[in-house]
Amino acid sequence: MSGFDYDLFVIGAGSGGVRAGRIAARYGARVAVAEEYRVGGTCVIRGCVPKKLFVYASKFAEEFEDAVGFGWTSSKVSFDWWTLVENKNREIDRLNKAYIRNLEAAGAELILERATVEDANTVRLAGGRKVTARYILVATGATPFVPRHLPGHELAITSNEAFNLERLPSRIVIVGGGYIAVEFAGIFSGLGVETVLVYRGEQILRGFDDDLRNHLAAEMKKKGIELRTRADVASIERSGDGVRVTFNDGAAFGAGQIMFATGRIPNVMDLGLDKAGVELTPHYAVKVDDYSQTTVPSIYAVGDVTNRANLTPVAIREGHAFADTVFGGKPVKVDHSLIPTAVFSQPELGTVGLTEAQAREQVRAVDIYKTSFRPMKHTLSGRDERILMKLVVDGETDRVLGCHICGPDAGEMAQLLGISLRLGAKKSDFDATMAVHPTAAEELVTMR
Ligand code: NDP
Repeated sequence: MSGFDYDLFVIGAGSGGVRAGRIAARYGARVAVAEEYRVGGTCVIRGCVPKKLFVYASKFAEEFEDAVGFGWTSSKVSFDWWTLVENKNREIDRLNKAYIRNLEAAGAELILERATVEDANTVRLAGGRKVTARYILVATGATPFVPRHLPGHELAITSNEAFNLERLPSRIVIVGGGYIAVEFAGIFSGLGVETVLVYRGEQILRGFDDDLRNHLAAEMKKKGIELRTRADVASIERSGDGVRVTFNDGAAFGAGQIMFATGRIPNVMDLGLDKAGVELTPHYAVKVDDYSQTTVPSIYAVGDVTNRANLTPVAIREGHAFADTVFGGKPVKVDHSLIPTAVFSQPELGTVGLTEAQAREQVRAVDIYKTSFRPMKHTLSGRDERILMKLVVDGETDRVLGCHICGPDAGEMAQLLGISLRLGAKKSDFDATMAVHPTAAEELVTMR
């Protein structure tokens, strides 16, 4: 592969880019990875990792309350936001260093500069240097979308800032009804912040199974989160230390912060993709084929910038498959079907496969198995919380098409259910499986 400075130039050191760079280097490719911010990308620096740590932090308030029913004496507890932020930052620093070490150990060169595409085989670095590569991989991720037409939008934060607020507000308005909105609603509410979730649609988490959406909404309300559905923000003004939010119906109130969790947009801006002739989709994502190849044969793209399934494990798979295909001599397509996923709401959601509504569109007969029960722990804690479990089954073939859970450890269960569904499990296989007792998961094999 002579004639080029590198065999592969990766733009973006997030989950997808780092995996692709490491695997390509392992295949003997001369690899450079450019990053304009911090190695690790959204997941490590301002996404999955800090979010999950914050979810843990926010659950303790209920744990302390629940302990009383088990004989513990409630003592006065308090929470310090900055201890959490600093400890979270330390963990992110550790992971950031581990990512750098892994890249270097694989033999990839790390360039801490913004890189943009000049043409099919050339990249320009922010310092002005131009380098050439036989292949360029765009792995630049996505960034929070903020509705900039709204008066006062600049007063709002996004999840990027939420992790490092100077102090916790006493009240927060969160706009959106997707993953990030419901996860942060649980975090802030658990940490004692009066939380108002504002969603423009009928019910939060569009695209998830309807029973799950309704169940989660009811449980969130029980925890004191105010859900305002069919509501939209009209304007935001500064008011004292905080903001005053006016809604489309004329209602208005004050809050310490307002956060937009209104989706994410692919990072393609000023990346030079148009100069090279790389086509975008109508939603401004990089258009790729099954092998993550763009419309320019030497340029590939993986992860959120392609807006396929915007999840870390998917970006990692896509990055690995790209390296196998281009440098490992074994073309690999990523299978984007049956992706198990968790929403770290409180309670948590775990889901894989078709929703009931999707199944009804796709097969002739659908059988639904559903159960709702109180977790054993709450028989003593006294907490009014229920688990929901639902199986969507093809009535003709008996094949399980979808599993949906709202309750503690639902994400852990979704991982294993993902394997079952991938193996084509039937409802009769679930029935024939011995229960693990006493667990919540045993209900999955005892529903009749
Ligand atoms: P989502 O796409 O999940 O949700 C965006 C929400 O914002 C939707 O409810 C949408 O409403 C609403 N919305 C969009 N535009 C506007 C607007 N102009 N005004 C008011 N509301 C608006 O995006 P998120 O930002 O929550 O998350 C981005 C992605 O990141 C997720 O889809 C997921 O792939 C990934 N992610 C995964 C996590 C996990 O695995 N646990 C955690 C966090 C993120 P509507 O429904 O009407 O379109």
